Amino acid sequence: MLFLPQKINVRLKEEGQPLQTLGSILDEWAAAVAYHGGMSFNAVVNTWYQSKITERTFLGQLLRKLRRSYLGTFKPEVIQKSIEETRKGDCHRCGLCCELIYKCPFLGKDHQNLPYCRIYGDLRPANCKNYPFDETDSEIDQCGFTFKESTSKPSSR
Ligand code: SF4
Ligand code: SF4
Repeated sequence: MLFLPQKINVRLKEEGQPLQTLGSILDEWAAAVAYHGGMSFNAVVNTWYQSKITERTFLGQLLRKLRRSYLGTFKPEVIQKSIEETRKGDCHRCGLCCELIYKCPFLGKDHQNLPYCRIYGDLRPANCKNYPFDETDSEIDQCGFTFKESTSKPSSR
């Protein structure tokens, strides 16, 4: 699979209810399999995945989180390379990425009502430390990180 170049402007709170989403996922799968009847299973999956990974939906958020977890676990060098070569800017502590899919129980508010991570440091999951690692992963308009085109994109993930 190739890295997707599209700029994603996913806004929070646009996701649907998980159960409704599960129903729509199954419907879309049935439609995709019917529409791409002549394609191999892998090709159908890949086409479906690439169409969903950038969506401003609960499913899109879930796929991006899974992608981040997979790469962080099995291909951390891909994430580090992307961060080093393409990421610009800084985190300005909006805390919005801590509410993707669900509000993290470790998200706190300080005396100035600013969000902070209660387990910031070694205990903070790699998924959080890596966010966002590329343009596909970046789904919050207000995020202080932006991305430039990678000079050496990975050929697979
Ligand atoms: S562990 Fe910390 S950084 Fe990660 S989502 Fe929770 S509050 Fe945010
Ligand atoms: S969305 Fe971006 S700026 Fe906001 S807390 Fe997360 S990494 Fe930082």
